[in-house]
Amino acid sequence: MSDCLFCSIVQGNIDSKPAGENDLAFAFYDIAPVAPVHILIVPKKHIVNASTFEPADAAILSGMITLSQDLAQEHNLNDRGYRLVFNVGSDAGNTVDHLHMHLLGGRRLGWPPG
Ligand code: 5GP
Ligand code: ZN
Repeated sequence: MSDCLFCSIVQGNIDSKPAGENDLAFAFYDIAPVAPVHILIVPKKHIVNASTFEPADAAILSGMITLSQDLAQEHNLNDRGYRLVFNVGSDAGNTVDHLHMHLLGGRRLGWPPG
């Protein structure tokens, strides 16, 4: 999608600090990190958010999760733990309409979120 920020990042038309990728997903460091490790994992295909996700795209979700596993390993998060978050809509503070999963780690994360 040409006017989508994260599509532009996936395509390299807007700069980001890449964190990793596989066939279906791309990962880059969040521009405003809220934890020592804060990575966004996005599908290479434009999907708006989890509320519009379709079962036919199940392989994409699998690709996003397996990329998060690789990144958790790379950042030594497996022993201490980490959080994977999908924000959906305004009450969740969702600001970018391209599906993304936050990988947060490297500090104790409060629950429930504020
Ligand atoms: P949301 O609140 O929609 O779940 O998360 C969007 C995230 O994208 C935010 O954490 C925000 O800091 C991040 N973000 C917004 N614009 C950019 C950008 O241009 N580059 C990067 N790397 N992250 C961005
Ligand atoms: Zn997009």
